[in-house]
Amino acid sequence: MQQEFDILIIGSGAAGLSLALRLADSAKIAVLSKGSLTSGSTWLAQGGIAAVLDETDLIQDHVSDTLTAGAHLSHNDAVEFTVKNGRQSIEWLIEQGVPFSRDGKRYHLTQEGGHSHRRIIHAADATGRAVQETLITRAKEHDSIHLFEHCTAVDLITRRKLKRANNRCLGAYVFDSSTGHVNVLKAKFVVLATGGASKAYLYTSNSDGASGDGIAMAWRSGCRVANMEFNQFHPTCLYHPQAKSFLITEAVRGEGGKLLLPDGTRFMDKFDKRGELAPRDIVARAIDHEMKRLGSDCLYLDISHKPKSFILEHFPTIYERCSKLGIDISKDPIPVVPAAHYTCGGVMTDQQGHSDLNGLYAIGETSFTGLHGANRLASNSLLECLVFAESAANDIRSRLDESLDTAYIPDWDESQVTDSDEDVIISHNWDELRRFMWDYVGIVRTNKRLRRAKHRVDLLQQEITEYYSNYKISKDLLELRNLALVSDLIIRSAALRKESRGLHYTLDYPGQGPEPRDTILTPINFEWP
Ligand SMILES: Cc1cc2nc3c(=O)[nH]c(=O)nc-3n(C[C@H](O)[C@H](O)[C@H](O)COP(=O)(O)OP(=O)(O)OC[C@H]3O[C@@H](n4cnc5c(N)ncnc54)[C@H](O)[C@@H]3O)c2cc1C
Repeated sequence: MQQEFDILIIGSGAAGLSLALRLADSAKIAVLSKGSLTSGSTWLAQGGIAAVLDETDLIQDHVSDTLTAGAHLSHNDAVEFTVKNGRQSIEWLIEQGVPFSRDGKRYHLTQEGGHSHRRIIHAADATGRAVQETLITRAKEHDSIHLFEHCTAVDLITRRKLKRANNRCLGAYVFDSSTGHVNVLKAKFVVLATGGASKAYLYTSNSDGASGDGIAMAWRSGCRVANMEFNQFHPTCLYHPQAKSFLITEAVRGEGGKLLLPDGTRFMDKFDKRGELAPRDIVARAIDHEMKRLGSDCLYLDISHKPKSFILEHFPTIYERCSKLGIDISKDPIPVVPAAHYTCGGVMTDQQGHSDLNGLYAIGETSFTGLHGANRLASNSLLECLVFAESAANDIRSRLDESLDTAYIPDWDESQVTDSDEDVIISHNWDELRRFMWDYVGIVRTNKRLRRAKHRVDLLQQEITEYYSNYKISKDLLELRNLALVSDLIIRSAALRKESRGLHYTLDYPGQGPEPRDTILTPINFEWP
């Protein structure tokens, strides 16, 4: 089946849906989600969105906090652009109906680590959910927005791939899980809003879909990617075979929670004089160090010395979730591991979201705009989704009368492939990939570990390519193929950075280099048009 739209948006998170809504009156739009509309990280976001909203706060202070968090690798222009446009993005969300928490007549603003001012607007402790529910409701009101659930973009269609001159993006091949068919969705403009790639790691706070699909598709279409070595790890994710992606908020440490080794000894004082209250990356590194030293599967976070009434009042959700798994946090320590949380690098874009390929945009976590540098400042990511969705929408609107000849796009060809008889290969490779990425390319790196990882990812990629060429595709296979590629990009980027900066920490180069420089990867063997 072939269908044609003005705009094809791959991703239904904060980035994709807000872009769709901004163009709904001018264009025919398709929005894809490979799961339900609520799959992705936006739904999971708790804390809120950073913006200069209080009259005593200053743009310059938010800029400066962002630059400091980013270890001075953020691009000044991208930071200023994002921060200056923050307020109007929040006002737009309020117009859409997002029920942000109030403090009397004003919106309540919280403060988070790294921010010098109260500037986090939120909807209780489930901001992402409130944002996404609102955007989905609004999107469903527009006939011009066509929402496709359980549809996974396989690859971008470009003129170059069809051996035509004047390269540009023409649409995407899309796998429909409900029918098992691959359809052609043509569009004048394609927007990657596919989120991050934290599923490259064994432990992650992200949902299942964070497999870096947008980054992989853009790379295969000849686009540059940047700073893939900067993966943010949250220090404390619940460790339990039945608990997937459940974060134990940093507020537990803020309220006196103690980090313990399996024998009950405290250890954070050895790493930082602030102990458990050290910044996120230092705590994550300390936990990782102790787990590797002891060969332990997890460490523990203990809040049981506080009265039960205090725990129930402050952490009702964590209490309930742990209780269901047989852990009474008012009596027992909580088993925790650090978890991959946010992908700072991605598809290189400018301020309008243009990638290197004409007609292709990238926004949200899948993009690299220069905002986050070597470490993301808390609550700047949803802000980036909103601000760049608006600027990309404005740019697309100005180009809507461009014409596109798409009559010659061929259907997906399945004549050379058969049904797979050994799906176990996919699940085995998934496990292997995420395990060695965790062990060798995680929170603490070395040249030796990176070389080991590179060797393994090369073998895996060969095996996956062979499998992909011979068997019919499935969502799992597509994600595995993308994750293996993105893992390769992470390993290569990490190997190229000969310093420790922000989230990239290597024992071989423990100091920060003199010059802040981005790691930019360009697809090899790619002929520019
Ligand atoms: C637990 C948690 C808490 C967080 N808390 C905060 C916070 O308080 N504040 C903050 O600013 N940030 C927070 N973040 C980060 C923030 O939520 C994300 O960076 C942001 O939501 C990313 O939005 P997005 O629109 O780029 O992608 P996502 O919301 O991740 O959406 C990705 C979309 O792309 C779709 N997709 C992916 N690949 C394909 C494909 N091949 N084909 C079709 N569809 C595809 C998915 O189905 C999904 O619809 C948090 C993240 C997590 C995991």
